[in-house]
Amino acid sequence: MTTRPAAAGTGLAAAGTGLAAVDDVEYGARFLGSLSLHEGRDPARLRQWAAAAAEFGAALAPAAIPAPLRIVESEGGLERGLLARYTSRPPTVELYTDSLEAAERLVTAHGWRKWFPAGSVRAAALAHEAVHERLHHGPERAALKKALGHTALRLGRFRVLAHVAGAEELAAHAYAQSVCGLGRTPLLLSAALAASAAPAREK
Ligand SMILES: [Zn+2]
Repeated sequence: MTTRPAAAGTGLAAAGTGLAAVDDVEYGARFLGSLSLHEGRDPARLRQWAAAAAEFGAALAPAAIPAPLRIVESEGGLERGLLARYTSRPPTVELYTDSLEAAERLVTAHGWRKWFPAGSVRAAALAHEAVHERLHHGPERAALKKALGHTALRLGRFRVLAHVAGAEELAAHAYAQSVCGLGRTPLLLSAALAASAAPAREK
């Protein structure tokens, strides 16, 4: 779960209103568009994929955090642009407490508590990373490809479905949003974090 999908570094108050005005699917499309693999891709296609990936993630059956998943907490998320990350060997979720605290502060500062209840950022980060775990190992990986329907190759009546870079990330965000009862996509938080970090990085 990164904080990267950046908005420009405007003032905090104005930024909050501006960030919230962008709809959730558009955040998904912007995220896909930020990936080099999608450079020059039709924006309408990106929106379509973003919507499909979000729909897929929101519809995933809620599951407990898998037992073998280790959870470790550390600092240094802000400088790396990360809220949390999943590593597969061994299956571990790393939560960056500095980023989580910063996100909670921004929720308060922007008046977004109705969308992100207290403590929900941490819960969403855990739910998000658990989807990476599921999509890494489980049958849902193929189901996501199918939901996106991006054809890599056509051999007569056979279609070979392609992986859509970034779709897993959007599915993870949508799942987290759904199971944690968030009013908006966690990408809004990512954008807020990136915007608040931007002025410091522009030195
Ligand atoms: Zn992720």
